[in-house]
Amino acid sequence: MREIRNIVILTGAGISAESGIDTFRGAGGLWENHRVEDVATPEAFARDPQLVLRFYDMRREAIQTKEPNAAHTALARLDAEWPGELLIVTQNVDDLHERGGARRVLHMHGEHLKAWCTWCDSRHAWSGPLADCPPCPKCEARSLRPDVVWFGEVPYHMDRIYRALREADLFVSIGTSGAVYPAAGFVQNARELGARTLELNLEPSQGSRLFHESRLGPASEVVPAWVDELLAG
Ligand SMILES: [Zn+2]
Repeated sequence: MREIRNIVILTGAGISAESGIDTFRGAGGLWENHRVEDVATPEAFARDPQLVLRFYDMRREAIQTKEPNAAHTALARLDAEWPGELLIVTQNVDDLHERGGARRVLHMHGEHLKAWCTWCDSRHAWSGPLADCPPCPKCEARSLRPDVVWFGEVPYHMDRIYRALREADLFVSIGTSGAVYPAAGFVQNARELGARTLELNLEPSQGSRLFHESRLGPASEVVPAWVDELLAG
């Protein structure tokens, strides 16, 4: 087995669930009688922008009442102490990795706490509502939308992510369903290029058989234990 120096960590809804952030399809997958998939698309936004903005306003407000859990803080400790390359790629749009103290984080599906002006293509930290169509801080156009990647849109930072996967000696997937591409394919990419692959999940994911090793349990338990082990070297 080759020495581990470069690590890529993919995180998904399972790591935030223990902080009380429900999965996107939680609560029966409905919001005000709309299927969640029907409010998280560019088509929905074109058809009924107020509906989509209100949905995201609610989510943005909710995440600000949540706190990082032991899995987030363990990854932040790894980020701070790991001497090699490390990249946390998250599918989550909350800011719990950052609030837990992690710095090397990429949000492939965007961030709840940012607004994107589709008029001047600028991005802004944003914690308040968007449903009242506030002006863009840069160009003053009322063209702000949540800076999150909707169904049918291309995830962010893919070049950087694939570059990191190519260099990875260890790929770790935490709390992901293994059902959403392109993230579901990362394990295969990493493995084909010689990385060791590890899954930390509450239950086996759809892609479990692709991993060299799976450790099952709540993220707040299995992630700190794995970080301790890795840092003890
Ligand atoms: Zn603008």
